[in-house]
Amino acid sequence: MLGRWSAGLPRSSGKCYVFEMDVYDHPTFAMACQQFERVADRLDVPHHQRARIKYPKRSMTVSLPIQRDNGDVEVFAGYRVQHHLTLGATKGGLRYHPEVTLGEVAALAMWMSWKCALTGLPYGGAKGGVACDPRKLSVTELERLTRRYTQEMIPFIGPQVDIMAPDVGTNEQTMAWMMDTYSMQMGHTVPSIVTGKPVALGGSLGRRESTGKGVAYLINRAMDTVGIRASNATAVIQGFGNVGAVATYALANYGLKIIAVSDVNGGIINRSGLDTWKLNQFVAKSGTVVGFPEAEPITNEQLLTTPCDVLVPAALERQITQKNAGRIQCRILAEAANGPTTPEADVILEQRPETFIIPDILCNAGGVIVSYFEWVQDLQSFFWSESEVLDKLNRILEGAFIQTLTLSRKENIPMRLAALSLGVKRVVEAKALRGLYP
Ligand code: NAD
Repeated sequence: MLGRWSAGLPRSSGKCYVFEMDVYDHPTFAMACQQFERVADRLDVPHHQRARIKYPKRSMTVSLPIQRDNGDVEVFAGYRVQHHLTLGATKGGLRYHPEVTLGEVAALAMWMSWKCALTGLPYGGAKGGVACDPRKLSVTELERLTRRYTQEMIPFIGPQVDIMAPDVGTNEQTMAWMMDTYSMQMGHTVPSIVTGKPVALGGSLGRRESTGKGVAYLINRAMDTVGIRASNATAVIQGFGNVGAVATYALANYGLKIIAVSDVNGGIINRSGLDTWKLNQFVAKSGTVVGFPEAEPITNEQLLTTPCDVLVPAALERQITQKNAGRIQCRILAEAANGPTTPEADVILEQRPETFIIPDILCNAGGVIVSYFEWVQDLQSFFWSESEVLDKLNRILEGAFIQTLTLSRKENIPMRLAALSLGVKRVVEAKALRGLYP
């Protein structure tokens, strides 16, 4: 059974029933739903309309058998969730991580919907994932897995239907294999089927750095807002992958002192400031920040509660929780990851208005904005310079930041509620205008 009907709040016309889908049951999906209900209450979205807006439009689960290098055949679970189709094609990343589930992917797809709407992109949200540990697969195994996943998804995706991009555990090479597999099936080259691919295959200049640079741009705007000077500021970054590492270098370029960073293997700290150039060289060789000579080791928990001006969670969901939210000691919490702060932690942080939050759907929107630019360039076969890309990116981020800040101040509501309200409202309005078919 996919879901059930339960009694909802009574309406003037009589009793109303609310559809609840349990196929997505997962703490991250519960968290996304909790955030949505709060926004829906604020926007007065009628209860009988909420299930239509909240639950994904479509989802697909596939089994992916691949031959391992030793000759064994192993089957992996793959997912793709398309949250809503009201504003155009769906858009969202593909994650390779051992803990990927349908419910987690559905939550990430829902957040993508609100993010695209907040930034005015003509997309619904989507997300995909394969439950695997990419660090334990060889390059050839990863290629076979990616090609098989793409093959299984062909009835479900397309440049006007659903467009994928990199996320945790995937990268430009993953996108190149996807684009090649899809193109071989279509019989002609289709660059617009994915974004975040290599520039040599129709990728956009600036896409690889766009999420991290966008995060740094918004941190700079938040520092202006709360009155922090970059040259006096310190930053701590959790997660040193595509987003976290680029944000680290961009913040260092703005003049901030980076005092601690971490990855899945552990964290490092140097209160006098890490030499990010040397760190870059070290990570390029060793593949991890752990063991960097000019720093001390630090646990994940210590890292998150280190006193600093800017804390950037750039790893996974549900890192700032009821347990540690009271001990976070930053002026700006810049949510580069999706869903790093639980609703319970939000309640604690809201009692500390001195902590300025740049909510995830705004903070990391740079990635999907430049993905949109890449898709537009591919469809037109007309490519832009990097400065054009970054200029357009900053303009969209600036607009979304100002709108969110203005609503937050005008209504005296938290930045997250303001950002989600702007995103959800646009989707609700679009659904109302299109009406309910048939
Ligand atoms: P990535 O795989 O390149 O990097 C993830 C990093 O997090 C790695 O350094 C990994 O070691 C680290 N990590 C994992 N678990 C950790 C833990 N428990 N503690 C500390 N570090 C840990 O992924 P990414 O693309 O940089 O994505 C990071 C976050 O940003 C995710 O939430 C993703 O959804 C979000 N995001 C990514 C993009 C993008 O363009 N790639 C866009 C928007 C949002």
